[in-house]
Amino acid sequence: MSTNLYSLVGLAAGVAFILALKGLSHPKTARRGNLIGAAGATVATLSVFLYVNPIHHLLPVLGALAVGLIVGVPAARKVEMTQMPQLVALFNGVGGGAAALVAIVEYLHLGAEATTAEVIFTVFTVIVGCVSFSGSIITFLKLQELMTTRPVVFPGGRFVIAGTLVAVLGVAVWVVGALGTTPLLILAALSLLFGVLFVLPVGGADVPIVISLLNAFTGLTVAASGYVLSSTLLIIAGTLVGASGTILTRLMAEAMGRSLFGTLFGAFTAKPQTASGSAEERPVRSGSADDVAILLNYARRVVIVPGFGLAVAQAQHTVRELADLMISKGIDVAYGIHPVAGRMPGHMNVLLAEANVPYDQLAEMDEVNPTFGQTDVAIVIGANDVVNPAAQTTPGCPIYGMPILEVNHSANIIFLKRSMRPGFAGIENELLYDPKTMLLFGDAKASLTKVVSALKAL
Ligand code: NDP
Repeated sequence: MSTNLYSLVGLAAGVAFILALKGLSHPKTARRGNLIGAAGATVATLSVFLYVNPIHHLLPVLGALAVGLIVGVPAARKVEMTQMPQLVALFNGVGGGAAALVAIVEYLHLGAEATTAEVIFTVFTVIVGCVSFSGSIITFLKLQELMTTRPVVFPGGRFVIAGTLVAVLGVAVWVVGALGTTPLLILAALSLLFGVLFVLPVGGADVPIVISLLNAFTGLTVAASGYVLSSTLLIIAGTLVGASGTILTRLMAEAMGRSLFGTLFGAFTAKPQTASGSAEERPVRSGSADDVAILLNYARRVVIVPGFGLAVAQAQHTVRELADLMISKGIDVAYGIHPVAGRMPGHMNVLLAEANVPYDQLAEMDEVNPTFGQTDVAIVIGANDVVNPAAQTTPGCPIYGMPILEVNHSANIIFLKRSMRPGFAGIENELLYDPKTMLLFGDAKASLTKVVSALKAL
């Protein structure tokens, strides 16, 4: 393949990535967008084999591709929708680590011939790639609950982080000035350490924002390694990931009412929380599916608030059945969608789209909040943090400042959950003890099925 053709294929793949992003911005076109992106990536990968002649170390390259396919394909196929953020964190970390490794190898390869610009880009790739790798592994461990999801802070932590950062920058200057393998490897080790220290203090509810930030970091490393490898395609793809990751980080931080600084360093300034009363000690009002059906039957307006538990229970089809039944009874029904309900941005939209819930029934948070005052019943299905008033009333709590769906303003609240356990942020929800709240305990799908039968019988 000629250099010109190779560049053209790279350009076409870059265009495919842009079209993919455009497609992914709407549920209707998301599947097509995904396919276009995958096709672009495949063509780009194949073009390298046709362009570089001969490919050095062909067997190890094919072996590495095989390992990636054997591990990646089943992991992506089997993963539950609810575990998607962990998978993204892991894949993203591997991407950052790979970019750092490529940069190190390229540096060793170029040796004394490397220009200052190439060395600077290499140093950047190694630092950010390693931070992204180790940071992503910690976010994976947190989300998979293989370690505590709470902020991990230790005395003097912020000084240790600052000291490590200074050491990273110092060694980076050393590498640029001294050109040597040892300083580069020390830089990689320090950057890995910094990535761990950087993510440890981030609390569970803020982890998604950090995943998105690390994703943007990986994009930047890929773009920088594109410069070292003179690959236009890597520069385009890396820049797209960097830019979209940055936009997503900003949107998520906004949706959760967070500043990026507060997300990353909030744990060092937060006041220790006083433990709230034990769940078992306080009375709650629980009801049966019949009680819920009666309440719904006499309602004029009902807002359904789906959350993570709806995805766990895979109750999206049953909830649609309930909504359709209520609509057939003349009840005004809307779904209130919180931007971070579930475990990934847009999770509820994807879930409800799977059950063909019409888009016009979905109401964004800002649209639905003013209507809770005129809502007879808010039915909260497997959601918790996104309706927790502590976000507005309890300074210092992990979700303080996050905008919530204000179901507390509706006349009646029904919670479908299995127990009194808290949600992702690990904090109690006062709303469960509110006199106008009724709890229907059980798996959301089983409970909804019973409510549908009871409502049909009325
Ligand atoms: P939460 O995690 O706050 O609450 C989920 C609730 O679902 C729990 O109270 C749980 O209670 C209940 N539940 C779990 N399984 C079932 C089931 N089978 N049937 C019925 N109920 C069930 O979810 P929210 O959606 O309210 O909030 C999302 C949280 O996740 C936020 O804190 C957000 O920051 C965070 N997050 C968001 C991401 C995103 O991008 N969307 C990514 C990662 C985290 P019980 O165990 O008693 O049943």
